[in-house]
Amino acid sequence: MQPTPELSPDHSDAAETRPIVVLGAGVIGLTTAVRLLESASVRRRGIPVHILADHLPNDPLDAKYASTIAGAHHLSFADDDDLRQRTWDRTTFCVMYDEWRREGEKTGLMVLKQTEFYVGEDKHLKIFEEHPDFVVNDIPSMGLSFPADHSVAFTSLTMTPLTYLNRLVARISTLGGHIHRHHLPSLSHLDHVSATALIGSAAPLAVVVCAGIGALTLGGVEDSTVYPTRGQVVKVRAPWVRSGWTRQIGSLNGGEGGERTYVIPRPDGEVILGGTREEGDWNPYPRKETAEDILRRAAEICPILTPSHLSAAPLDDDLPTLDNLRMGDTGDTAAGTRSPLEELVVCHLVGFRPSRKDGIRLGRGPALEYVNGGRTEVVYNYGHA
Ligand SMILES: Cc1cc2nc3c(=O)[nH]c(=O)nc-3n(C[C@H](O)[C@H](O)[C@H](O)COP(=O)(O)OP(=O)(O)OC[C@H]3O[C@@H](n4cnc5c(N)ncnc54)[C@H](O)[C@@H]3O)c2cc1C
Repeated sequence: MQPTPELSPDHSDAAETRPIVVLGAGVIGLTTAVRLLESASVRRRGIPVHILADHLPNDPLDAKYASTIAGAHHLSFADDDDLRQRTWDRTTFCVMYDEWRREGEKTGLMVLKQTEFYVGEDKHLKIFEEHPDFVVNDIPSMGLSFPADHSVAFTSLTMTPLTYLNRLVARISTLGGHIHRHHLPSLSHLDHVSATALIGSAAPLAVVVCAGIGALTLGGVEDSTVYPTRGQVVKVRAPWVRSGWTRQIGSLNGGEGGERTYVIPRPDGEVILGGTREEGDWNPYPRKETAEDILRRAAEICPILTPSHLSAAPLDDDLPTLDNLRMGDTGDTAAGTRSPLEELVVCHLVGFRPSRKDGIRLGRGPALEYVNGGRTEVVYNYGHA
């Protein structure tokens, strides 16, 4: 989740009637809109800011709307020599840490101790050393029940995405921004009456494309290097877990490699257990065998997840839980293989991380010359996976 660039709109036009359009209402689009509305030039000139989006924060969950499915912990994947990404991730941490310090967990943010385990030759990323309270753990003294070759701990952040997104929506509304549900099939449709009915008939000064996975199909962008990295997670209720745990087996490879297990407590008492990274996999439904594997791995790296009253064997192992029934389990799972964590399960979630072959696209593209005869700058801000 990254900071957004300051736009400097074309000062030669009748700016007060020409809006800036942000396409997308995920964490990137909403944050972009807040930054625009707070910027001195937009405020001074009274430039209207409109957000157009298919999905809005309180909608039923949809795999294509990544922001509502995310864990979400602040854990950088920035390679040691990727200074651009490191700067963005450091800035994001500082902005969110500051929000939490001023207003506490009602922001949707939680500050916590994060412990990372590594199995294999990879060590921690350098950026973790910049976090408060960074230490390298002494593995033998940790009494682990699984093998690990390296471990670090530091202070980081997690969030309840819905709370955080709704606060961004409230900030936009307070700052005078406008949010509309609208599917834009193509950038060239910005002057179609279905769009101008919402944003006005003056050609926009700029459109900022924060469409996530939508950048693959949005006309005028159609970025064929965008692809889904499917993530399946299990949401459990475990308010006693107030620290984060991650285990990386094998090489991280910029976040794409190896097997990664994580336990992400949220401030509302729910905990996200993960996960998977399945490139190019568009299946929006949870897979039962994946869910079982996630519960097994999460219990392994975070023993405090399983309260002692659930550690004892259940009376009847053959009774399926409601969630198992929803996932097509007929109840014939072999006795003894069901995780005690099943008792804590709230739901199973699948989302598509909006991955991009060359990473995040942040910057200007060619302007649109054809919207209402005006010139509309195009800025891209997508590919945050
Ligand atoms: C399982 C999972 C776990 C994750 N865990 C973490 C984590 O722990 N930490 C972390 O930092 N990140 C995590 N992520 C990644 C995170 O979710 C993304 O980085 C982030 O949500 C991307 O936000 P976005 O705003 O770019 O996209 P999205 O949230 O997908 O929003 C895209 C927006 O664009 C709109 N849109 C697209 N096309 C159109 C169109 N043509 N017309 C109108 N509107 C359009 C959509 O409706 C939506 O509003 C996770 C993702 C998944 C799937």
